Amino acid sequence: MPERLTDAQLEHLARELRRQRHDLDAQQVRMDESLDDVRAARGSSDADDEHDPEGPTLSSEWSRISGLTAGLADRSAAIDRALQRVDDGTYGQCVRCGRPIGFGRLDALPWAELCIECARLP
Ligand SMILES: [Zn+2]
Repeated sequence: MPERLTDAQLEHLARELRRQRHDLDAQQVRMDESLDDVRAARGSSDADDEHDPEGPTLSSEWSRISGLTAGLADRSAAIDRALQRVDDGTYGQCVRCGRPIGFGRLDALPWAELCIECARLP
C-alpha cells in the first residue's frame, strides 16, 4: 500500500498542478483564437456550406478544434478539483476508498482522483 505524501512531495505536486493549469489556460486561449479564425472564415463566405468548397474543410476543422477544447476543459476541471483537494488537505487520498494514492502515480498523473486499485475497477 502506498505511503502518504510527505510535505515536500505534496508541495512538488501542487506546484506541478499549478504549472499545468497555467499551460492549459495558454492552450485554451490559442484554441479560442483558432475557433475565432474558423468562425471568421465561415462568416466571410456568402455561399452556404453545401455549395462552398471550403465548407466541409471548415466543418471538420471546427469539430477537431472543438474536440481538443473539450479535452482541455476536462483536464482543467480535473486539475482545479485536485488543487481544491490540496487546499482541503485531502489531496493524495483516493476519492473512492480514501487510501493514499502514492507519489509514483501522482507524479505521473498529478490530477489522479483514484488509487491504482480503484482505477482498475470497471
Ligand atoms: Zn481507491
